[in-house]
Amino acid sequence: MPGIRIDKNHCKGCEICVRACPQGIISMSKDISVRGYFYAQLHEPSRCLGCRICAIVCPDVAIEVLAHGTVFNLIDY
Ligand code: SF4
Ligand code: SF4
Repeated sequence: MPGIRIDKNHCKGCEICVRACPQGIISMSKDISVRGYFYAQLHEPSRCLGCRICAIVCPDVAIEVLAHGTVFNLIDY
């Protein structure tokens, strides 16, 4: 099953991934990271398509996508 990993300590809370996810399954945290930002969270993992859009649009390379046994990050695109 596809999924994503968000590194909350690299996330700056810009919400670009929240708007970009076609499934609408990324939302912002209610607490803050060590950098002082609200950070992105995957709230319905079972609905993730593994499409990688969130990772592609993230300006801080804070998201990795796991799909079909492979971990994708920005440098793979
Ligand atoms: S991989 Fe696609 S479906 Fe899954 S969280 Fe990212 S944008 Fe949404
Ligand atoms: S696009 Fe990246 S930096 Fe912006 S909220 Fe999402 S994970 Fe955080």
